[in-house]
Amino acid sequence: MDPDKVLIAGGGIGGLAAALALAQKGIPSLVLEKASKLGEIGAGIQLGPNAFHCFDRLGVGESARGMAVYIDSLRLMDAIADGEITHIDLGDKFRARFGNPYAVVHRGDLHGVLLKACQDHSLIDLRTQAQVDGYDQDGKGVAARLGTGETVRGRALIGADGLWSLVRRQVVGDIPPRVSGHTTYRSVIPLEQMPEDLRWNAATLWAGPKCHIVHYPLSGWKVFNLVVTYHNHAPEPVAGKPVPVEEVRKGFTHVCERAQNIIRHGKDWHMWVLCDRDPIDQWVDGRVALLGDAAHPMMQYMAQGACMAMEDAVCLADSLSSYESLETGLTAYKDRRVQRTARVQLMSRAMGDHVYHPDGPRAALRNTLMNAKSQDQWLDTLDWLYGGNGLD
Ligand SMILES: Cc1cc2nc3c(=O)[nH]c(=O)nc-3n(C[C@H](O)[C@H](O)[C@H](O)COP(=O)(O)OP(=O)(O)OC[C@H]3O[C@@H](n4cnc5c(N)ncnc54)[C@H](O)[C@@H]3O)c2cc1C
Repeated sequence: MDPDKVLIAGGGIGGLAAALALAQKGIPSLVLEKASKLGEIGAGIQLGPNAFHCFDRLGVGESARGMAVYIDSLRLMDAIADGEITHIDLGDKFRARFGNPYAVVHRGDLHGVLLKACQDHSLIDLRTQAQVDGYDQDGKGVAARLGTGETVRGRALIGADGLWSLVRRQVVGDIPPRVSGHTTYRSVIPLEQMPEDLRWNAATLWAGPKCHIVHYPLSGWKVFNLVVTYHNHAPEPVAGKPVPVEEVRKGFTHVCERAQNIIRHGKDWHMWVLCDRDPIDQWVDGRVALLGDAAHPMMQYMAQGACMAMEDAVCLADSLSSYESLETGLTAYKDRRVQRTARVQLMSRAMGDHVYHPDGPRAALRNTLMNAKSQDQWLDTLDWLYGGNGLD
């Protein structure tokens, strides 16, 4: 195995983006993915303009733009009163301000675009059934220990192995992720089954006490992505368990009829109990660094986990190519990324409490404050996030 390669544990959106970003700078890599096949589960994902800034730097701008649905607005509905609280217009003014659009894509399509670009690049090797259990390092390189007992050598190791990262376990030595107690159920509805009066070209959020519903069109308007969340204090992490619609409906009996009706149309529901972590700045151990959910797992309430992973990738490659010493480059990468990702981690949690799930006077206050904002004020509010590409 080429010892000059950067090893990347994990072939999710973060790991593949890292391989592409490094390749753009002429740095070869080997992606080690534990699954037997490279792919993504779940349906939709929202992408802010900052994701599109990254696509261009990863060399996939055109193909990424081709698979997206360009929605007109982000719409916030009151799930009790059945009325709009506010919306953010994603039209020309938004695009001009941030230099790129806001879009929704199928996760599989996004992963597929990144995978194809990796497969086509001579500097990237991909290997499946290669779980990275840990690593050893010396002044010359890193040896990743695989589940098979084999070791693979490289010049650096990037832990892009997600929420339950084994690389992180060794870098940080910390406790398991925090279980949020929020249970998310995901489904996809064929367009013709989506209630006609709700076929909006928007990412719509119905916010109710301790629950919310998100829907948006996907895959060239063939389907609607439906994600509903109930803060039921679930005690244990769960990932992708099939559940009957009756179980999903239990958490939404208190919301308006129109919102309840959306859930009735969902099929093949799967459930996740969401986890995140507090921000840390211990992302680097010598020649080893963390990226994406391995570094900063967050609640999905700012729709930024994958966007941040791609920004990490761009910044990692930029930092490594800017310094002679690998260790200095990794430390520079971490220093450039920690505050921005910590802000998104903490704000995502706060959004859950103050925007997605409040009740009574707190919900009324949310409505008043959010309704009072003009479109220009919304753009100012979002400038720090969508205006950046993670390099500053
Ligand atoms: C309900 C929900 C909605 C979301 N919506 C959005 C959204 O709208 N916009 C957005 O930007 N983000 C969103 N996110 C967040 C986003 O999905 C994640 O942040 C993103 O996928 C993280 O990518 P990653 O590559 O870091 O980790 P992962 O996607 O977890 O990938 C990790 C990869 O590593 C592999 N792996 C794991 N352990 C090992 C090991 N030891 N060795 C080798 N391989 C290993 C895994 O099989 C996997 O392929 C959402 C998340 C959820 C839960």
